[in-house]
Order: sequence, then C-alpha cells, then structure tokens
Amino acid sequence: MSGPRSAALYERACRVLPGGVNSPVRAFRAVGGAPIVFERGRGVELVDVDGRVFDDYVLSWGPLLLGHAHPEVVDAIARAARDGTSFGAPCRHEIELAERVTSMLPWLELVRFVSSGTEATMSALRVARGATGRELVLKFSGCYHGHADALLVDAGSGLATFGHPSSAGVPAAFAERTLVLPLDDEQRLADLFEREGARIAAAIVEPVPGNHGLLLQRPQWLRLLRELCTRHGAVLVFDEVMSGFRVARGGAVELYGIRPDLATYGKVIGGGLPVGAFGGRADLMRQLAPLGPVYQAGTLSGNPVAMAAGLKTLEVLERERAWQRIEVLSAALERALAPVLAAAPQPVQLVRCGSKFWLSLQAGAPPRSAACVSSAAAARYKPLHASLLAAGIYLAPSAYEVGFLSILHTGAHFERLAAALARALSAECAEVRT
Ligand SMILES: *Cc1c(COP(=O)(O)O)cnc(C)c1O
Repeated sequence: MSGPRSAALYERACRVLPGGVNSPVRAFRAVGGAPIVFERGRGVELVDVDGRVFDDYVLSWGPLLLGHAHPEVVDAIARAARDGTSFGAPCRHEIELAERVTSMLPWLELVRFVSSGTEATMSALRVARGATGRELVLKFSGCYHGHADALLVDAGSGLATFGHPSSAGVPAAFAERTLVLPLDDEQRLADLFEREGARIAAAIVEPVPGNHGLLLQRPQWLRLLRELCTRHGAVLVFDEVMSGFRVARGGAVELYGIRPDLATYGKVIGGGLPVGAFGGRADLMRQLAPLGPVYQAGTLSGNPVAMAAGLKTLEVLERERAWQRIEVLSAALERALAPVLAAAPQPVQLVRCGSKFWLSLQAGAPPRSAACVSSAAAARYKPLHASLLAAGIYLAPSAYEVGFLSILHTGAHFERLAAALARALSAECAEVRT
C-alpha cells in the first residue's frame, strides 16, 4: 500500500499525466494498488514522500549499478552542469565517453550516443536496413527493445512468422516487416533463414533476455543465430541495453564470446541520466550521416551532463572492480535465499545472471522462451509483492520484471529479503488453504 502523501500526489498526477505516470509499468497495474511516489534515493535505499524507507531492487530498472546518488557521479554531474547543460555542438565529455566505451568494448569500432535505449535500437535497425538494402527485421518473442514501431510487434497466430502490432497505433504494414520467432528453437530459426534469409536486414536479440522474466539462453542457440546471420548477410544486433556493463564488464558479448555486428546500450551507460548508444562494425557505422546516407540525429545527444554521468559511472565501476564484486554479492544472495526457496510450499526459484535476477514462480527447469513462462505467476506475485513492500523491500511491480543488484547491496540486505520472502510465502500458503 502507498502512504497518504503518495496517494495524494498520485491523485494529482492522474489529473495531468495519463494514468498518473510517464511509463506504464510504474502505475502498479500488474500488482494492484497505487504506485509509491519517491522523495530520494541514497545507495541501496529509497525513501518515499511518506518517509518510508525501502531496500531497492529495481534501481531505476537497471541503470544504478552504483546505487542511488553516488557522490562521485553527483559531483561529476554538478561540475558539468555548471559549465553549461547542452551545446548542441561537440563537447569533451562525449569524446571521452566514446573513448572509454570503445576501449572497454573493443569490438565496438565506432559508437554514437543517443538519449534512450529505444532510440539506440531504432537507429541500429535503420543502419542495418540502410547498409543491406533489405527491409525485414527478425526479433524474438519475450525480448523487449523499447517502443519503436518496428519492434512493438508480436508473433502472428500459429506458425506464422510475420508480426502483428502489439500496440495500437503501429501500422500493420510496419509490423509485417518484422518477423517474430520464439527464442531457443534452432529448427525454426534455420527454417526461417532458409526461406527469408536473403531479405533479412537484421536480427535483433537480447542475448540475456530480461524483459519477460529472465530467459537464459543456451550458447549453442546464440551461436547458430550468429552463424545464420553471417551466412545470409544479415546484421546481428545484440540489444545490450539491460545486459551491457551489467552481466559482465563486456556485457553478454564477453559472457558468451559471441560478437554481434552492432550492439545497443542504455541504462548503466548513463549512470541514471538519459543515455543510449549504438555501435559496432566501422563499415556499418560509417553508413550514418554525415558520413553516409542513413539519417540519425538528436538535439540533446551527447550532452555534457549526461556524458559526464556515464563517464564517471564507468570509471568508478572499473576502479571498484564492480563485476568481480557483483559475482561475490550475487552468490551471497543465492545463499541467503536458498533455504527460503527450498522450504517454500509453492514453487519459487531464483534465476540469475550476474546482478540481474528473477524470482520465477514456477516449477521445473527455468524457462528459456516466453511460451514456457507460466501466466499463473502474475496472480501469485501480487500478494507477495505487497507483503515485501510492507516489509520495506521494493521489487519490480510485475511478476515478469527482473530485479537488480548494485555494488552497495550487502549480506544484511539479503537476510532482510530472505526473512520477508519467507513470511510472504508462508502467508500465501495459509491463504491457499483457507
Ligand atoms: C530498457 C530496455 C530498452 C529500452 O530502453 P529505454 O531507455 O527505456 O528506451 C531496450 N532494450 C532493452 C533490452 C531494455 O531492457
């Protein structure tokens, strides 16, 4: 439940913002109740406008690997802002961030900055289409790539691979240029490339899909996708907006040792400010204006404040050896939750990749495709979420969103989570019996 001040503010919000929010999942529709309005964040802690304190496992949906308001990041932002927030012209910070990113991710020969993950994927696909002269794009069910028209597309019925709009307002004619396949299915992938390979400009995939639960992929499947793209001259785009700088220093590319042609970034790369990026093979990136015929632009792209936040975030992550620390931390999370999960009266398991984790409310092997994710989880998640919230633990307000760790989480946080989860799970069981 939200407190009285949150409730009052949300009521005001609903009069001026559609649904009271600027991004739909924030409205708590999936878990019921009104959203919480937050006042401030510091480290792992979030404080709402009613003064209630929460351990945060959402971390702005991923960007805050250093936690909220990291003092060095805040300083860098303040210093940059004092020198002017935007020039609409080249600045030192964007060049330094590009140098840092391309040195951390050596397969990124050239990179361009934008202001969101959506812009990054949309622009990467335009580059792929421009470079190949082809129109079709292949995506996979359960992967989210932001809200560009070409990507708000679901699989058609049955075995049809040509997509349908998943949102009103997306022209069917656009959606038809997006092919949709399930993850984790070699046969259908090979068949599709056999049939349509010569018309496919790009295949885009979240290599560590984290937007429909956490669907960990088999390396063989990802390798086959890489091979088929190469063989048929399609551009392979890894959408690392969530996994980049998070599942490993070099993201999923490092984790799997598979190199895409283009990759997209967002979230961690901006340290909490609006930054996205796409980059990869120089011959593809040289298609972009002003060098080539593919148009792409942004008034605030590469602005010094956002670039300074990203630069400082990556600098601190490197210095703190964040990715090694995160492995130790996530192992501690696993240890803390193990006895609770084992004793749970109903199925619940922890699926994890680096500092991304998902509490999956189903039995059996962790799902690898969207179709294998149980739709019954949503109803069970609702009371669990409310119970954890009441215990001061903020998890994503949807059963199909993952959780995130920062380098500031500690064993004490995990013990609190474990205890609250144990209570929530036993309450759930009592409810089932009554
Ligand atoms: C969050 C996300 C996006 C969209 O990024 P925005 O900054 O919200 O536009 C794209 N792809 C993936 C994998 C994401 O997780």
